[in-house]
Amino acid sequence: CGIVGYLGEKNTKEILLEGLKELEYRGYDSAGIAVLQEGEFSNYKAVGKLKNLEEKTKDFITDKFAVGIGHTRWATHGKPTELNAHPHLGESSYVVHNGIIENYAKLKEDLIGNGIKFLSQTDTEVIIHQFEKNLKTEADEFKAFSKTISELEGAYATLIVTKSLPDTIFFAKHGSPMLVGINDENEKFFASSDSPLIGHAKEVNYFEDGDYGYVTKNEIKIFDAQGKERQVNFIPLKVDK
Ligand code: GLU
Repeated sequence: CGIVGYLGEKNTKEILLEGLKELEYRGYDSAGIAVLQEGEFSNYKAVGKLKNLEEKTKDFITDKFAVGIGHTRWATHGKPTELNAHPHLGESSYVVHNGIIENYAKLKEDLIGNGIKFLSQTDTEVIIHQFEKNLKTEADEFKAFSKTISELEGAYATLIVTKSLPDTIFFAKHGSPMLVGINDENEKFFASSDSPLIGHAKEVNYFEDGDYGYVTKNEIKIFDAQGKERQVNFIPLKVDK
């Protein structure tokens, strides 16, 4: 339902939780965050209101460079439980996802056939296992991510963070809205609508259907549905809130 992402040196936890609060009005049944800081992942999930997630994360300190993703879930596949809340873990990567993966049942069956264990009932969880399966055969993380995106059918906006690339967030958008924002401090912000970015980002790029790519501290790479790199189209973020 709602997605946020952050790359930078500020208080990652606060930025993610505040961002999710901005998306609260859209409705949700559970929420979660995953943060990769100093080579270690921290993951928190809670059913119900965001204050439950705030309570769980109250001793979690984010004061170093980090990448983080967050989600408010409106269940479509699988009950609104803590286990089904995003972000979902593979082996060493996390995913958040808005929308529906239409071909998840087939992908899940194949993955289970390959010995993969599923923890949730969501359609979303196939994304992260498919990504990690592709990590084993593709030359690098981005190739594994591109292959994964090409295998998904349905509507999605999704973010992935992975342990082997602690300064990278992968993104893809197809049928569900998402944008990325930047500022002069090399921070990167993702969200499924612009309100979480107000007060943080100076310029934003609204993704088009089929866009996928990645951000690091110093770059943003966007590829279109045909796999061709395209110009990032930054426009000032309107602050009429
Ligand atoms: N289909 C996913 C799920 O049920 C994502 C739902 C959403 O957009 O929040 O977990």
